[in-house]
Amino acid sequence: MHPRLSLLALGVALGLAASAHAAEPAAVEQPKLTAQTLASGGTMPAEQARLHFDHADLHFTIDPARRHLDGEATLRFTAREPTDVLLLDLDKNLPIRSIAVDGKTLARSAWSNPDGRLRIHLPKPLAKGGSVSTTIAYGGQPHVAKRAPWDGGFVWSHTDDGQPWIASAVEGEGCDLFWPCIDQPTGEPDLVDTWVTVPEALAAPGNGVLVGIKDNGATRTWHWRIKQPDTYAITLNVGPFEELKGNYKSRYGNTIPMELWYLRGHEAGAKALFGEFPRMLDFFEQEIGPYPFGDEKMGVVETPHLGMEHQTINAYGNGYPKSEYGFDWLLQHEFAHEWFGNQVTNRNWDDMWLHEGFGTYMQPLYGQYLHGDMPYFAMLHDERMKLTNAVPIVSGQPKTEEGVSDGKLGPGLDIYYKGSLMLHTLRGLIGDDAFFESVRRLVYGRPDPRPGNFKPRYATTQEYMDIVDQVTGKDLKWFFDVYLYDAKLPRLESSRHGDTLQFRWVTGHGEPFPMPLEVQLGDTVHTLAMADGTGELQVPEGSLMIVDPRSKVLREMPHAEAFQAWEKAQKTEKKAKEKGGKKD
Ligand SMILES: [Zn+2]
Repeated sequence: MHPRLSLLALGVALGLAASAHAAEPAAVEQPKLTAQTLASGGTMPAEQARLHFDHADLHFTIDPARRHLDGEATLRFTAREPTDVLLLDLDKNLPIRSIAVDGKTLARSAWSNPDGRLRIHLPKPLAKGGSVSTTIAYGGQPHVAKRAPWDGGFVWSHTDDGQPWIASAVEGEGCDLFWPCIDQPTGEPDLVDTWVTVPEALAAPGNGVLVGIKDNGATRTWHWRIKQPDTYAITLNVGPFEELKGNYKSRYGNTIPMELWYLRGHEAGAKALFGEFPRMLDFFEQEIGPYPFGDEKMGVVETPHLGMEHQTINAYGNGYPKSEYGFDWLLQHEFAHEWFGNQVTNRNWDDMWLHEGFGTYMQPLYGQYLHGDMPYFAMLHDERMKLTNAVPIVSGQPKTEEGVSDGKLGPGLDIYYKGSLMLHTLRGLIGDDAFFESVRRLVYGRPDPRPGNFKPRYATTQEYMDIVDQVTGKDLKWFFDVYLYDAKLPRLESSRHGDTLQFRWVTGHGEPFPMPLEVQLGDTVHTLAMADGTGELQVPEGSLMIVDPRSKVLREMPHAEAFQAWEKAQKTEKKAKEKGGKKD
């Protein structure tokens, strides 16, 4: 992730400290990443769009003492269109030793990697439908994250008793920080095998199913296999882990293996967290649908950074806290990404709210599932106070991950909080049945998901809007235009003419906003249709009146902005005082 943004910026925004074992700062000077490698996503180059990624066979040897990664990747592609080049992404600071195509080593002149975009000229052109495999041997010191997961790379940490504790997190910069890939959301290989060789005393929990562990003497090789992972979800985790294991009997009839890999000495916290797994699974399976990777596992590994949605092996570094809401928000948020991010993946990062808006709405929804309306509204209210409303959530243009999640370049945290509050508003507008059906169709591409009848898929904002229209039989363009494509929230104005109160919705782009409005008068709740964006009600002077008494509609609220401005001023004043204090 990125310092200013990110899926996990949630934690920072909530003022939560990162893991008790904070990541260590990079001890060594490291080469800068090129702009090419820093960026993830954007517009996919035509050469990459020609390739379908069938299989990635990734061999990694990790030497903790030297902070060194040695890699050999065999990648197989099928040509969607004729091509004579393989265009891949790999950090140029991991020098390539050799490249072979279909088993034959290429001349050094046949490939180049000047800035992290690796161009391999094929010995002979590939026809449409033809397949090709390339083996790339490379290695070096992978980029070290200074503050994972907000910036990406490797975290070389150690346990209290000095043993290596290593993790990777690369959402912001992408898979090319440590393996040759197509650094685009749609660059998912159909199948990935990872072979991770680590010192014998350490474990290397990975993505998907453990195929086997090979004993090499001083080292062991952990072989994992996963179907269609997100490109940034492939992860390396190494440490002296203990393991908690169990099985979950799904309401869909299948049995889901559960695994938690934790550091020795953290048993009590780990057991309590592991105890939360079944209920979280039950919530998502009941509200959304089948756990998408039930034939692999629900997996979690303790990390020296806060967390990341690594498919079937979620990174967890929240330190096992007690929570006022009765559940671990970090695990619940990362776990939500198995549905929103890993099962349904944004086709372009411009649609990142599909990951983070839904992913963030799942915490209040889970609070409601566990304990009723109080945690639900408390969490939504917290989110409401963090909105920026400076940049629309969706631009309609291809974007890099950073271009969306960095609040200086794009909507930033609004994709989390405003996305979540927008979904709350949509749920109130169309009702629970239509809302959850629309979510199901988005996630699984069908209304009747069962284990085995769906695969990971890609989606766009437009596709979700179309689904909602289909499910409701209505045209809700007016709704999404305002919440996704306007920066500003809708504003409710009112004016009095005698006993008549007139209400009017005002939007950023000036179009009508027919959002129904509830107004409570005394103990009666009136619903104004607001069909053309206006409505009126007889409200005698001095009547008790509450607008939107059930907090259904996300809208401009001057008191929220006033509070945010005050909070900011307080912080500035505090900083100034601290500075002044030092001078004395
Ligand atoms: Zn997230």
